[in-house]
Amino acid sequence: MLWSGWGDPAKAAELPSPVRRLLADLLGVQAPALPAATFGEVRLPAPALSPLVLSALSSAVGGEHVRLDDDARIRHTRGKSTPDLLRMRAGDGSDAPDAVVLPGSHAEVAEALRVCAEHRVAVVPFGGGTSVVGGLIAARKGFAGVVALDTARLNRLVSIDTESMVAELEPGLRAPQAEQLLAAHGFTLGHFPQSFEYATLGGYAAARSSGQASAGYGRFDDMVVGMTVATPQGTLDLGRAPKSAAGPDLRQVILGSEGAFGVITSLRLRVRPAPAVRVYEGWRFATFSAGAAALRRVAQEGPAPTVLRLSDETETMVGLARPEELGALASEPGCQVIAGYEGTAADVAYRRERTAATLSEMGGVPLGSEPGEKWAHGRYSAPYLRDSLLAAGATVETLETACFWSGVPRLYEAVRQALTASLGSPLVMCHVSHVYATGASLYFTVVTAQSDDPVGQWESAKRAVNDAIGLAGGTISHHHGVGRDHLQAYALEIGDLGVSMLRGVKERLDPAGILNPGVLIP
Ligand SMILES: Cc1cc2nc3c(=O)[nH]c(=O)nc-3n(C[C@H](O)[C@H](O)[C@H](O)COP(=O)(O)OP(=O)(O)OC[C@H]3O[C@@H](n4cnc5c(N)ncnc54)[C@H](O)[C@@H]3O)c2cc1C
Repeated sequence: MLWSGWGDPAKAAELPSPVRRLLADLLGVQAPALPAATFGEVRLPAPALSPLVLSALSSAVGGEHVRLDDDARIRHTRGKSTPDLLRMRAGDGSDAPDAVVLPGSHAEVAEALRVCAEHRVAVVPFGGGTSVVGGLIAARKGFAGVVALDTARLNRLVSIDTESMVAELEPGLRAPQAEQLLAAHGFTLGHFPQSFEYATLGGYAAARSSGQASAGYGRFDDMVVGMTVATPQGTLDLGRAPKSAAGPDLRQVILGSEGAFGVITSLRLRVRPAPAVRVYEGWRFATFSAGAAALRRVAQEGPAPTVLRLSDETETMVGLARPEELGALASEPGCQVIAGYEGTAADVAYRRERTAATLSEMGGVPLGSEPGEKWAHGRYSAPYLRDSLLAAGATVETLETACFWSGVPRLYEAVRQALTASLGSPLVMCHVSHVYATGASLYFTVVTAQSDDPVGQWESAKRAVNDAIGLAGGTISHHHGVGRDHLQAYALEIGDLGVSMLRGVKERLDPAGILNPGVLIP
């Protein structure tokens, strides 16, 4: 993973020159005044941990698994939001941990937490490091130092119950590794977020992730049937049955807890048979509202496709145009839907036929398999383009929300207006990314020219959007989580009593407050 960008450097995407010209003409993008910092230029805080703490941590996890080198510290600094990347590109390593600790078992995690609680060292659980909400930045004030607790060594398929279709997997498994291990038994998780190449199972659970195939396989929190969690106060072992009436479901308290309540050391996950057939195809609707009405009918009447997403007019236009055609943004391609089906041949044929009938009845025009295959082929490539856009002087960032169907038009307009009012004339694209019988998630991508202070510029736009989402009745996050960036909006969403409930749980599980301080708990 690039330390100041996304993914495998070998897959870096160059911006075609027509795109550069378009950015300059349409958005006024100019090359940044300063070149990006090199690795050696990143400014790190002086390491703060005492020899006593380092020795105790070494005893807990083994000396070779406590890393103090600049490489480890820089690679565990913040996550992968655009402000995170802009700060790294500016050489700002001020949020770097003092040490990176890599435990190899539940017992080692528990012992590392005990040591950190005893010495008041803040702990940031670190999976793939792909958080986009500031979920990996610990508050330093009042702590003797900060440790990133990297779960990379917790990477085993522990067991698989083929009869129940439940697999126990460790949290540090990256998604491709997990899929490979399950494929050997004929299963899949079916969780394919855009961060698939790098994110981990623990991060998915801790941030309530949702993948591109959520219409068929469900969100990640739907897949979790059990878990083991190490907290500074002891171990939680949750989940004896798929559903239970034994009181409130404590699994739900840990899902989305973003490392603030404990470290997930094992997950029992519902798995599905690996699909024999995969079909992705495109549809066109005249307008976004016509497309949304069609998706709503499909979601409410079923059967559900595996993938179902609808791009608005702008996203469709940008997605369809070849670079040399981008200047002609006036053409009206309508709004594109991608519908995908994975399963047995008979199941795919049935769901495809029924969905096609509904989409046609609602005014959709079939575009065949080409748009679907193009989407499937490029589904993980957009983050690579972000690096090139940042280097060219454009800020590109994404944000997401969700609401009930009746609120979708208002929420869509509110977010667009907030972005436009704050950023001047940005390019704002949106798609309906996840659908339910009762509502949907809206996912926005914004491109704008960088100001002299691009981080401040984005932070003020983000504040405006957070306010707009709250006023329009949306949730502050459908699948990215709270982190630091959504703290204030989250507090408004759950109210004072909700905040005090969270604080009560935190106080019970982590009385010293060492776990991810500053994240999640308003
Ligand atoms: C380019 C890009 C595309 C993305 N696309 C999607 C998408 O399609 N869908 C989606 O849902 N999200 C997406 N995300 C967001 C991100 O990938 C998810 O939030 C993911 O769940 C984070 O997983 P991770 O392993 O990287 O966790 P990290 O970023 O390492 O951690 C996320 C949070 O969980 C905590 N944590 C991590 N592991 C544990 C553990 N074992 N126990 C307790 N707490 C833990 C961390 O402290 C942090 O607060 C995207 C991000 C990027 C950069």
